[in-house]
Parts: sequence; structure tokens; C-alpha cells
Amino acid sequence: MGPDPLAGAGALVAELVGEQADSWDAAGLLPDQVLRELGDRGLLCPQVPEEHGGLGAGILSNGEFTAHVGSLCGSLRSVMTSQGMAAWTVQRFGDAGQRDTYLPQLARTSRAAVGFSEPEAGSDLSAMGTEIRKEGGSVVVSGRKVWMTAAQYADLLVVFGRFEGGAAAVVVPATAPGVQVERIAAPFGCRAAGHADVRFDSVRLPADHVLGGVGMPPALLVATALAYGRMSVGWGCVGILRACRAAACRHAANRRQFGKPLAEHQLVARHLAELLVAEQVATRACEHAGRCWDDGTPDSAVATVLAKHVSARQAVAGAASAMQVLASAGARDGNVVARAYRDAKLMEVIEGSSEICQLILAEHALTTTVR
Ligand code: FAD
Repeated sequence: MGPDPLAGAGALVAELVGEQADSWDAAGLLPDQVLRELGDRGLLCPQVPEEHGGLGAGILSNGEFTAHVGSLCGSLRSVMTSQGMAAWTVQRFGDAGQRDTYLPQLARTSRAAVGFSEPEAGSDLSAMGTEIRKEGGSVVVSGRKVWMTAAQYADLLVVFGRFEGGAAAVVVPATAPGVQVERIAAPFGCRAAGHADVRFDSVRLPADHVLGGVGMPPALLVATALAYGRMSVGWGCVGILRACRAAACRHAANRRQFGKPLAEHQLVARHLAELLVAEQVATRACEHAGRCWDDGTPDSAVATVLAKHVSARQAVAGAASAMQVLASAGARDGNVVARAYRDAKLMEVIEGSSEICQLILAEHALTTTVR
């Protein structure tokens, strides 16, 4: 095994983010030079193989890095998740020529967003109405996507839609005629992640923009593409929990009430214990899923859903515990725990809500039980 391509990357991101995550969140914007610098260094999606211009980071190393970024800035982590999901979709569904074209761009120079959700297709992506239609040597993309993370910053939009009796993903340059990006102002959390609704009004592109060039079963396409996002969000939640534990422990050790530090009041100490447990449980679930990916076990998709579900649940509970420990100190906008509390809740909504994850896990439980 060679040296970890992400050695030193954590320190670099910590330096780039510094104390600015809260002001970026308030402004609803990540600085262009930060995204550019991370892109130039291959850090927006470090898993892209070296042969395609990426860093070739392993799944666990990438996960640890994602958690680190998530502990610093949920918006930046969200942008990385979208970039990684776009690259993963190209890796899995693109042909050799498309991988050669898009992966080096995604690894370094172009930013990307991924669009599944539509006004009438949220949890139920089988209801997607976006149409990708062949016309001679072109394809025409028509439809509307909502809540595309990072679309505000994106050069490339990876868009899922109906295609030739099945479904496909198509790579749409954000500047193509007919593309209209409408920023979502002041979302509940991850407020600098560049969320946008995007319209595609008869966007005409060369036919080779359709990844793989054929229609695929929609459920397979979506589940495969989402797997990367779920893994990344799971690790992002680990990062949220690390930030919350650190803030809660610092506060509990320093703030005194009733003549002693909060940490010495046992009911407060219980919150700290719960935060540690939440962080450890989420970490172990993500590590397990990562090892399943590495080993190529058939259960890796379910392990990934489980990791995302457990981590999001733990992040919501952990951020609530941290808020309770900080009390009024955490109630000011601009506090790391206030930001984590808002960001965490959204992790239960995206990449398959908690309920959708539970349905997948219940089906797995049923089908793997001998009756
Ligand atoms: P709905 O599908 O309307 O569901 C509403 C509620 O009902 C949820 O609690 C859901 O769990 C529950 N529910 C629905 N069906 C069932 C069922 N069968 N059984 C039990 N409960 C059910 N989309 C993208 O394509 N790309 C992105 O980059 C992206 N980023 C996002 C970022 C943020 C911050 C947010 C908030 C959303 C983002 N989304 C993105 C959209 C996201 O994927 C959807 O919000 C999510 O799939 C849920 O869909 P919905 O909001 O329409 O809720």
C-alpha cells in the first residue's frame, strides 16, 4: 500500500476554513478561492482514480477526510458530497470515453451538482418526469429539478431522467442554453452549500452526454448513484458529532453553575456520555460500510444505507444534546452547535430520508430472515 494521498489534507482544509464557517453560513456563500484551491489539489472528490487525474483515495481514508471537513463546515462537506456523487456516477455508468472526458474535470477543474429530486418526485424517484430524448445525433433534456446541492457553484449538472424506456444520467453544462439555475435563499441548514432549483427547457446536447448511452432500470441507477452520497453523508454526520462533542465538552468543563463546572453535574455529564456514544456508533457504522465496499460484499449497499441512517439519527440526537449543554450559549446564530443542530436535521432528509432508509432496512431484515 502506498502513502495516503490525503496525508496533510486535513490540516490544509482546517487552515482554509479557519474560523469562517459561521460567516459563510450566514452569508450563504462559500468563497470561490476556497473551492478553487480544494479543486486544484484534487480534494473536492479525492476518490477519483489517479489514472483519471484524481488522488485515488481509499474509501476509509476518504471517509475520515469527509468527517474532518464535516466537523469544520457542513456546507463545504455537502459540496464535496455532490462533487463525489457526480464523479461516482460517471465512474459507474460512463463508458471509457466519458470517464476520460469527465473524471479529470471533476477531479480538479469543474464543480458539479447532482439532480434526482423534482417537485413531484422526492422520496418516490420512480415519479421523475424529466425527459432525456434522442433527436438525431443530439439529446434534448426537459424538466425541473429541485434542491440541487452545489448547483449555484456548478459547471456540470449530472441530471437523472427518463430515457428510452428506462432511465439515464446526462451531463449538462450549467451554461448550456435552456438551463436556468434559481438559488434557494436561506435554507434551514448547510446554508452555504449552494442549493438551487434548476429548470431544463429543451436543453440540446450531443448524444454522448448521456452516460453509458442506454436506458437502465431506474431503481438500479438511482440506488447506485445514491450509494456514494449516503456514504459521504454518513461520514459528514460523524463530523457533526465530533464538532458537537468538542464544543459541549469545552463548555461543560469551563462554565460553572452552582459552584462547580457543568461537567460535574451528573445530568450534564450524561449528555457528554451520549455524545461520545453517538460519535462512536456513527463512526463504527461508517467504517463497517467502508470495509464492505472495499471487500465488495453483496451487503455493501445495505451497510451503506444503515451507516447513513444510524449516523444521521445520531447526529440529530447528538446535536440536540450539545445544544442542551450549551443552552443560551448555543442559541446565538453563529455558534458552531447552533449550525450543527440545523445541519444535522437535514441529514435525516437527504440521500433517502430516515423513513426511506428504514423501509430499505426492513426489507433487508425480512428477506434475510429464514421463515
Ligand atoms: P417527501 O418525499 O414529500 O416526503 C415527506 C415525508 O414523508 C418525509 O419524512 C418522508 O420520509 C416521508 N415519506 C415519503 N414516502 C414515504 C413512505 N413510503 N413511507 C414512509 N415515509 C415516507 N435532491 C437532489 O436530487 N440532489 C441534491 O443535491 C439534493 N440536495 C438536498 C439538500 C437539502 C438540504 C435538502 C433539504 C434536499 C435535497 N435534495 C436533493 C432533495 C432530497 O433528496 C429530498 O428532499 C428527499 O428525497 C425527500 O423528498 P421530499 O422532500 O420531496 O419529501
